[in-house]
Amino acid sequence: MKNSQNLKSWLKDYNLNHPMVIAGPCSAETEAQMLDAAFQLKDSDTSIFRAGIWKPRTRPGNFEGVGAIGLKWLQTVKQETGLQTTTEVANANHVELALEHDVDVLWIGARTTVNPFMVQELANALAGVDIPVLVKNPVNPDLALWLGAVERLYNSNIRKLGVIHRGFSSYEKSKYRNKPEWQIPIELQNQFPDLPLFVDPSHIGGRRDLILELCQKALDLNYDGMMIETHPTPDQAWSDAEQQVTPDRLKEILKSLVVRDPQIEGVKYINELEKLRTKIDGFDDTLLRVLGERMTTVEDIGRLKKSQNVAVLQNARWHEILKKMVDLGEKENLSAEFVTKIFQAIHQESINHQEQIMNQK
Ligand code: PEP
Ligand code: MN
Repeated sequence: MKNSQNLKSWLKDYNLNHPMVIAGPCSAETEAQMLDAAFQLKDSDTSIFRAGIWKPRTRPGNFEGVGAIGLKWLQTVKQETGLQTTTEVANANHVELALEHDVDVLWIGARTTVNPFMVQELANALAGVDIPVLVKNPVNPDLALWLGAVERLYNSNIRKLGVIHRGFSSYEKSKYRNKPEWQIPIELQNQFPDLPLFVDPSHIGGRRDLILELCQKALDLNYDGMMIETHPTPDQAWSDAEQQVTPDRLKEILKSLVVRDPQIEGVKYINELEKLRTKIDGFDDTLLRVLGERMTTVEDIGRLKKSQNVAVLQNARWHEILKKMVDLGEKENLSAEFVTKIFQAIHQESINHQEQIMNQK
């Protein structure tokens, strides 16, 4: 796959003067729920109606989707509202059924993108099919795996391609359900500027109050569109209730978003600046998280020292660390003076933490 191919051209078929909007419930639940959502979305900027028919759930015992009957409801939505439709496919059988039911766009879910066997099965089943296929990022932060899935489809002659950024799972707690790790889609954009990029703020945020800010951020980074879970009665949803919005709220969100024309010179500058700032924010976040973890370990050492009645300050160890870090810093183009200052500050903070532990009764 080359970065010069005109992979964005299929977006022009939609003739939009705004980013593309894909909206609809997390899961198809009943025909009435689907039609209710779709009729409310019909007069919004939504072009494509989404609904999950087969739901990949992390643990068994949750609602796993209505199955093929939902495809009939998607057909009805299309007939009655004129909206295009999309659903998630995870194996060759899903592809066959979805195509039989005239689904217009398919997406591959995050739990499928991680598995090259499944992606290859899908690529084979889709060979030569002329509808757009969108690939969600894998659950783990691995750009090569994400691009690998896109390449498997490309090698099956699928040319209407796009990617959906839905965030990455992590063991640490964060305000997001799936951490955005913006630097990954930014790197993807750098490598393949022509690959349509969508944001899925619903699965990144996991909370409906984060959707607007996530969409705005994506637009500031020049994304091509968004997929937003929208349900007539979100709190009663059978899956992902906390992150879904009502169609009215979706319309408000779309109205509040600021869309800038990427052709304008000043906007290019804002875009570029936003990308670089996002990278910096990611680094700062990592720096502080790692420092926090380091301090937790320092405290463990403090407790160990206390149990053996050993002094907090151990000069030989400290000088050894400092020397190692100054050498490493040199390789990273960081001056000895700067590295020394940073490590003196870290060391002082560590001593403070350990002394607190020593002095605890
Ligand atoms: C979904 O879109 O409802 C879904 C299951 O998403 P993901 O594959 O991103 O978890
Ligand atoms: Mn969902």
